[in-house]
Amino acid sequence: MTRIAFLGLGNMGGLMAANLVKAGREVCGYDLAPPLCTAAAQSGVHVAASAGAAAHGADVVVSMLADGKDVLSLWTELLPQAVQGVLFIDCSTIDIATAREVHRKAQDACALSVDAPVSGGVAGARAGTLSFMCGGDSAAIDKARPILADMGKTIIPCGGAGLGQAAKICNNMMLAATMIVTCEAFTLAEKLGLTPQALFDVASVSSGQSWSLTSYCPVRGLTLASPANDGYKPGFMASLMLKDLKLAQEEATSAGAPTPLGALALQLYALYVASGQGASDFSGIIRMIQGASKPAA
Ligand code: NAD
Repeated sequence: MTRIAFLGLGNMGGLMAANLVKAGREVCGYDLAPPLCTAAAQSGVHVAASAGAAAHGADVVVSMLADGKDVLSLWTELLPQAVQGVLFIDCSTIDIATAREVHRKAQDACALSVDAPVSGGVAGARAGTLSFMCGGDSAAIDKARPILADMGKTIIPCGGAGLGQAAKICNNMMLAATMIVTCEAFTLAEKLGLTPQALFDVASVSSGQSWSLTSYCPVRGLTLASPANDGYKPGFMASLMLKDLKLAQEEATSAGAPTPLGALALQLYALYVASGQGASDFSGIIRMIQGASKPAA
């Protein structure tokens, strides 16, 4: 049986590792935070004493960490001990340069590697319905496919090393911009005397339609699974959206791509997070937009 090491058992990783166990996989996990190891053990993950111990003898190593610095340090620690042909999959959202650097390190160690950031958030991780955007050699992506399929429902090869990360930050830049403009449209509609339901009914079948509107509406009561229905509990935290927008702007600057709306979205999410809302869902930014639109008292 394929032995999987799962490193990083946080909000996403804990649920993803649990789904691998549910699919009948042998999973050995580790997180720097002991309570997360305890929680993972309760879902059937064998917990190791260190990342190195978890990866020892594994056929596949999956990492789900906060940022590129953590991924670089972990892969740098593990790759020298890796057996030839071991597959390393990084599901974290990180900068493209670091993603490519860890791919190079894997190649030097004769390991296979895939960058496979996800979309779908905690709800998708729990339900096993994540989308994976994959970068790397096609042989590595093909080998990763059955493991990713146990944690998600969509696996999209995006090209070579780092291009999974490129797809992820481009997608999330679009998501941020459509969410903000959807919030602005509902705020404007209200001032014009239009009910939220009327705007929803029109835009959801017209050219203003987007995922932000019809799957994740920022106004309460209009879509079923929207965090707006539950006080903007995440979902996808505003602080993570801000992180992804920063990554997108860094890449845009170094690639020389003009992304003025992406830059503005970053500024608005920076304001929202600075107002103490980093842990709320990113669609909660409608409250800031509505507040900003109110006439001064
Ligand atoms: P998290 O902070 O909850 O989990 C990261 C975990 O990695 C932490 O528990 C930390 O202790 C652990 N860790 C760090 N270094 C380690 C090491 N050397 N060995 C073992 N464990 C280590 O973060 P998260 O919310 O699970 O997100 C993980 C990644 O997924 C991020 O890159 C995030 O941007 C991305 N993402 C998150 C969401 C979401 O909704 N949470 C959605 C899509 C993508």
